[in-house]
Order: sequence, then C-alpha cells, then structure tokens
Amino acid sequence: MKRFDKSIEEFKTAEQVMPGGVNSPVRAFNSVNMDPIFMEKGEGSKITDIDGNEYIDYVLSWGPLILGHANKQVVDSLQETAARGTSFGTPTIMENKLAELVIERVPSIEMVRMVNSGTEATMSALRAARGYTGKNKILKFTGNYHGHGDSLLIKAGSGVATLGLPDSPGVPASVAENTITVPYNDLDSVRHAFEQYGDDLAAVIVEPVSGNMGVVPPSNEFLQGLRDVTNDYGSVLIFDEVMTGFRVGYNSAQGHFGVTPDMTCLGKVIGGGLPVGAYGGKREIMETVAPTGDVYQAGTLSGNPLAMTAGYETLRQMTKESYDAIEKKVDRLVEGFREAAEENDIPLAINRAGSMVGVFFNDSAVTDFETAGNSDTDRFASYYRGMIEEGIFLPPSQFEGLFLSVAHTDEDIEKTIAAVKNVFKTLK
Ligand code: PMP
Repeated sequence: MKRFDKSIEEFKTAEQVMPGGVNSPVRAFNSVNMDPIFMEKGEGSKITDIDGNEYIDYVLSWGPLILGHANKQVVDSLQETAARGTSFGTPTIMENKLAELVIERVPSIEMVRMVNSGTEATMSALRAARGYTGKNKILKFTGNYHGHGDSLLIKAGSGVATLGLPDSPGVPASVAENTITVPYNDLDSVRHAFEQYGDDLAAVIVEPVSGNMGVVPPSNEFLQGLRDVTNDYGSVLIFDEVMTGFRVGYNSAQGHFGVTPDMTCLGKVIGGGLPVGAYGGKREIMETVAPTGDVYQAGTLSGNPLAMTAGYETLRQMTKESYDAIEKKVDRLVEGFREAAEENDIPLAINRAGSMVGVFFNDSAVTDFETAGNSDTDRFASYYRGMIEEGIFLPPSQFEGLFLSVAHTDEDIEKTIAAVKNVFKTLK
C-alpha cells in the first residue's frame, strides 16, 4: 500500500487556511472519498508526490501540459525571459508572436485578445458578443462548463428552453434569466429556444467537444446545426475551446470538425502551464473591444511575458505530426480499456476526441448530461483508488476527461492498460 503521510499532514494545514484546503474545488478529491495528494515535481509523463510516490499523469494540470511536465524548451525559455524581467505592462514582442501563431492555426480567429484564464475569456467574449449585437440573452448547454462567470453558472429551468436559474448562491436571478440552457447535442431544443427568444439572443456558447461532463463529442449534425441557426438569427456563435483548443488537433476542434464559429475562447494549452486565456474571432467583432471600440475589457497582467513565452514555446513544438503521434497512443489506450472491460464483464462507455478520453461505468452510450449522470460513481471511486495504488494519476471524477501528452511513451500506455486490467478484476 502506498503511504500518504506527508500529504495528509499538509492537507490539515491547508484546510485551516483555504476553503476546503484547495484553491479550486475539484482538487479536493471529494467524489472519490480521498484526501488530496500534494505534488512535488513532474518530468515528462510522470509526477511525484511529497511522500515520494511516482505516477503516470493523465491530468496534466487539467489539460494544459500537452508536452508533458517541465518540457526543456519551455523551462529554458521561461528562465531566460524571467531573468529579463517578469512584467512591464507595456507591449512586448512575444505577444505579437503568440497572437500571430494563434491566428494562423485557429480558423475563426482574425484578431485575438490575451487574458489570464478561461473564465476571463468566456466572460469577455460574451460581453463582446452582446456589445456587437446589442442583444441581451445567451444560450448555453446543460453540462457544458465555461468557467465561473455569473451568467455562465446557470442551470436549466424546468422544461425545455426556459429561462435559467442560478446554479450557485451569489448569482442574481436577474442575471440568470438572461441565460437559456438546453441539452447538449439536441438541435430541436436549440431551434425551439430560437423561435421563442431568437430576436434577443446575442450568442450561443458551446464546448465543441464537451469535456466537463466527462468527454462527450458532438453528434455529426450538431455543430453545423448551431452554425446554421445562429446565421439565420444574426446571433454570435462562440466555441469555448478552452479545453479543446490546440488539443483536439493542430487547428483545434473547429478545424477538426470543419465548422467555423464567429468567436473562440482559448485557455489551458495556449498557456503551456502558465495562467493564460484568450478570446478572438472576426475582425469586426473584435474591433468593438476597447480601445478600438467601446466594449471595455482590460488586464494588468494580460499578455504577461512569462505566460506568452510558455504558450509560444509549447505551440511551436506541437506540429501536425505531434498530434498524430498522440492519437496513436490514445488508440491503444482506448483499445486496452475495452479489452479490460470485456475480460471482466464490466459495462463501460468510452468517448474520445483527439487526446481527450472519457471513461464511464455505464452500460449505454453517453451523449449528454443526462446519460453521463447515469454512470456508476461508486464503482468509479473504487476504480480511482485502485489506479492510484497502481501509480496511475487520473482526474478524480468520472465527469472529467483524461488527457495524454507527447511525453507519454508506449511503455506508459502498456503499464496503464495492465493497471486497468488489475483494477477491473477487483471491481467485478
Ligand atoms: N471553459 C472550459 C471548456 C473549461 O474546461 C474551463 C476549465 N476547465 C473553463 C472554461 C474555465 O477556465 P479557467 O479554469 O482557466 O478559468
């Protein structure tokens, strides 16, 4: 059995000084009935905790580390950049370089604004969409997460296409009623919402592959359907690619699926492990943002030299071949999960998109929030703890996807499959 004495001790201190002992709720490991594990270092695909236990890491800081931990080129350039000063609050050349690279790779982005997190990116994109259209309401999908901005922390009202309700104390009902929530992959509900509220719908915001109810890809017609209906009503289509951007493929999810939105939100991989978000899109929409236009949005540390450097050095190393190489490893991993499930007669639904994989203990297909919710969370918790013992670090919830990096080796994948087989035997 692994020992976690130091983590347990540190968590006691953490609980005294931070709500729940963490700086972001999902780190608390509540849904797998464990105390969180404190990490000390990472290298490539591996991380080591403060008790000295080593793991193959499939969390990768919740997605950003597509090159793995402590990539040499990223770390060397960060050190060089830091030695010249960490922030100026003036333009720097690296901002141009990262912006040009983003514009080159993401089909919808003609102009981009850097911010500091995915939350900031989605909040700011919505403001720009409202400013541009002069409309108030937005439409989002149940089970999609777009950060913790007030107008996005909204659950569905009762019935299809009703006005939303606050999903958290502190979100005013008057804000929630401007957000309409409908089921993912359900174009009929989207059309119905447009028939009712279309004249005042500023934007539709969607995760082009949903990664926050586990991994749920879009149906064949879903994204194109959203493109058509938003075109018909003059509403702005926003792809929240905070998770999928530069992960689902060289040209992000929009390149992969061949549907181009009006605006795109980015985060995670674009910051290479430092705090970065970005939003961008059509020139005429982005030019409504200050100082060109009147839609106000700003940031003391936006475009920070360290953050821009980590993002640029990460994206520069991610060639088309790198994406192909990761996909092959994902193919083998998914095959291994399926073998383990069959050998042990365990109902398992696996979804994948690029290097995002969703594993559900579920005997039917998972296509939306409702079907994801039918998964066996108790079995997941047992599986999770078993995998930790085997030295495999996974996201501590069935409703989070796991990620691969270019640093994962074939040996890592085979070790992981062997661990899954061992643990599945104990779940029968
Ligand atoms: N959008 C999506 C699709 C996300 O997955 C996340 C974070 N997991 C966010 C927005 C919010 O990003 P951040 O945590 O950087 O604020």
